[in-house]
Amino acid sequence: MSKIYLDHASSMPMDARVFEFAKPYLMASHGNPSSLHSVGLQAKQAVEESRSKISEFIHAENESTIIFTGGATEANNLAVKGAALRNITAGKAVVASVIEHMSVLNPMKELQKNGFSVTFIPVDSTGIVDLKKLEGALTKNTVLTTVMYANNEIGTIEPIREISKIVHEKGLYLHVDAVAAAGRIPIDVQKDGIDLLTLSSNDLYGPQGAGALYIKPGVKIQSVLLGGGQERGLRSGTENVFGIVGMGEAAHIAQKEMNRESSRLLPIRDRLITEILKIDQSYLTGHPLQRLPHHASFRFSYIEGESILLNMDMYDIQVSTGSACSSKTLEPSHVLLAIGLKHEEAHGSMVLTIGRSTTMDDVEPVSKASNETVQRLRKMSPMSQEWRK
Ligand code: PMP
Repeated sequence: MSKIYLDHASSMPMDARVFEFAKPYLMASHGNPSSLHSVGLQAKQAVEESRSKISEFIHAENESTIIFTGGATEANNLAVKGAALRNITAGKAVVASVIEHMSVLNPMKELQKNGFSVTFIPVDSTGIVDLKKLEGALTKNTVLTTVMYANNEIGTIEPIREISKIVHEKGLYLHVDAVAAAGRIPIDVQKDGIDLLTLSSNDLYGPQGAGALYIKPGVKIQSVLLGGGQERGLRSGTENVFGIVGMGEAAHIAQKEMNRESSRLLPIRDRLITEILKIDQSYLTGHPLQRLPHHASFRFSYIEGESILLNMDMYDIQVSTGSACSSKTLEPSHVLLAIGLKHEEAHGSMVLTIGRSTTMDDVEPVSKASNETVQRLRKMSPMSQEWRK
């Protein structure tokens, strides 16, 4: 059986068209965009063309709203710390949903150590942010609110327009981490009412090591990385030209193909969900309807996610058990705990994120392997033996 890669939320393979497009910037066009000679200008022009493509992709006001970074983690740090510190005279309070990615939560916790008040907004059992609690948490001291467009572990899409209305009625800034959602569902920063938006190249089938932060004109923000003043002084350091050019082309392709591709993936995802839920004591995590079209996430009682992942890998099927970014800890995912699962329930999770290489033919072997994996692990599980008594 050939490999079935179902971990697109952790890393997407670079699209061959993206690689062909950006390849010259690995060797032949090696200029530094800050150099004034022709080789430098060529690189600068390529970076600016990519900026236009990203701006079009999210329907931004213009291309100067886009700041390239070394990835989504860096863009999230810039948004959270940069906006909080720049607006410190207006207040020292920040607000985030409890299911944000660690690259939002950890900068928030650092702000907390430095005297900011931080409020984490709970979510319901499907992962939707509690809008009443959000509204109640916003005060005149709040300098930044951050809620992700969609969650990478449970696939739930947040009601961003409603959230934006609540935040803007109080005259505050909204940051949105759109890493999981971009390229899967349409994003329009102006219609959605977003002030800061994080994107990742690799989550668009672009090269790893590039990301971007959209900054609405007029939003006050400062740099968190000091140096030569590249990217309007907001992200110093020589640009990763290959990564940036690849990211622009990846966004351009995603924009053209997203509707068709998402419609192709939806029935495959739904079949996967139907088949896998036939397994005894299996449950869908996240919202049943308001979820990303490529995302199917489950939990199985009495077994444990790392073993599921390794067992599935023996069938040459790559899955995830929550976020790859925090898989270094054995703690259960903060997202699964936030939707109300007990520790032992949160441990038994499996996340399938399908992509351009996935076809309907994959459903049968994946469901079969999932069933065999769960049965095999349950036979060995002390928790399950306890249950059978
Ligand atoms: N936000 C979300 C929602 C993510 O899933 C990820 C990881 N893919 C990140 C931020 C951070 O991305 P990176 O590790 O590429 O910086």
